[in-house]
Amino acid sequence: MVNTPRKRLVIGNWKMHGDTAFNSELLAGLRTGIQSVAQCDVAVCVPFPYLYQVRSLLEGSGVTWGGQDVSEHEKGAYTGEVAAAMLADFNCRWVLVGHSERRGYHGESDATVAAKAAAALAAGLTPVVCVGETLQEQEAGQTHAIIERQLAPVLALGADAVSRTVIAYEPVWAIGTGRTATPEQAQEVHALIRGRLDAAGTPQVRILYGGSVKASNAASLFAMADIDGALVGGAALVASEFLSIAAA
Ligand code: PEP
Repeated sequence: MVNTPRKRLVIGNWKMHGDTAFNSELLAGLRTGIQSVAQCDVAVCVPFPYLYQVRSLLEGSGVTWGGQDVSEHEKGAYTGEVAAAMLADFNCRWVLVGHSERRGYHGESDATVAAKAAAALAAGLTPVVCVGETLQEQEAGQTHAIIERQLAPVLALGADAVSRTVIAYEPVWAIGTGRTATPEQAQEVHALIRGRLDAAGTPQVRILYGGSVKASNAASLFAMADIDGALVGGAALVASEFLSIAAA
């Protein structure tokens, strides 16, 4: 099988930041600066209330957008939840599922994360499935076992589904801490994930690295064979910094 190169992808995760004035300025910066970043897909995942604003300001810019979470249910009596079809209604292309802050603070299980990925796919969205070990798990030498465990129910969705996902490896100890995995540490886990994706018959799935990615460390991470881009938190809130990461 001949594999075509995987196009790079950089996604900003705004987390629970922003307001309409701040967003306007950030989005204007992205709209202007994106012209110089042709070889990379660029997207932002934003808080739900701002999807309308983000669509209005990014439409036709080349920057795509998405949500940070989605319900595993299609519709119904699920107060406070947001359905995948609602995200699709705002022309979202992406949705994060299983971010460590969802797994950690909201008790989302591996099975729930896979169910959310399936719901996103059913609505035509690309789920960005986040996996990653905690510091304690890393120190106990459990990194590979944790990643395998988190991936298993997603891989069980089948090759057709998996081929329409993106995987993000985000070691929890590197998120928002300023402590980035070394390129070699990240590559080692990406290679494990790549092996599982190859075995599942889905070699084209992109694997992003996330955890304190900045303009200053992006190029060395992207030089690794199995790192296809980044999921960026804090640095995605500054247009020039975020675009520099995409340019790397
Ligand atoms: C994230 O929120 O997914 C993330 C990687 O955050 P940060 O870049 O701030 O570590």
